[in-house]
Amino acid sequence: MRMRKLKWAADFIANSEVNVHNPEIYQGKWRELLNRDCIHVEIGTGKGDYWIGMANLYPELGWIGIEKQESVAALALRKKDTLEQQTRFIHGDAANIDQWFAKKEIDVIHLNFSDPWPKNRNKKRRLSNERFLDKYHQILSDDGQIIMKTDNRSLFEYSIIEFQNFGFKLEEIYLDFRSEQHDEDIISEYERKFMEKGPIYRAVWVKGG
Ligand code: SAM
Repeated sequence: MRMRKLKWAADFIANSEVNVHNPEIYQGKWRELLNRDCIHVEIGTGKGDYWIGMANLYPELGWIGIEKQESVAALALRKKDTLEQQTRFIHGDAANIDQWFAKKEIDVIHLNFSDPWPKNRNKKRRLSNERFLDKYHQILSDDGQIIMKTDNRSLFEYSIIEFQNFGFKLEEIYLDFRSEQHDEDIISEYERKFMEKGPIYRAVWVKGG
């Protein structure tokens, strides 16, 4: 998601109570901070529709959104400017995720319409590249899950192979998720745009062992 730089973004993030400014301080303490036993993380929230929508749908769970682009992060935080105990945001690059969360601290990671980075030379930037999977494996609980949705078939196929090679077990797969109604899952503005153009792919992997 590319967008022009918003002049107010840096100050807005700096003053946000929902944004956690030094996430490394909470390593090992997120369940306590959010007062929830089960913690979900969305990596790459974009403008925040999915993170906020899922947090509203499941308030009994903890919800942490992560976004690296400053202007996009500010737009997400602007939509969620009231602090609720179970919801937080981290403006940062998920490459550092293992410094923010302790081993086995996270129960579910959501990759909702991640950037596909189609060129081979950029594959390390894909959020399902082995570089990230290694970190996800560390921070996920023993029965932790990764849930991915995308409109991009090439990214989906690539991810299935990467997860398989890393030893994650494929638990669910949909090749046209929106052909049935799924009220348990939020449709972001971003997803709605792509739903009209073709199928939405979805998979769930479990860490296992
Ligand atoms: N999840 C959103 C939704 O469902 O509406 C849309 C996501 S948007 C297409 C992908 C986002 O992932 C972009 O805003 C991008 O900045 C973010 N992103 C990509 N790599 C990231 C990383 N390493 N750390 C944090 N955010 C990242």
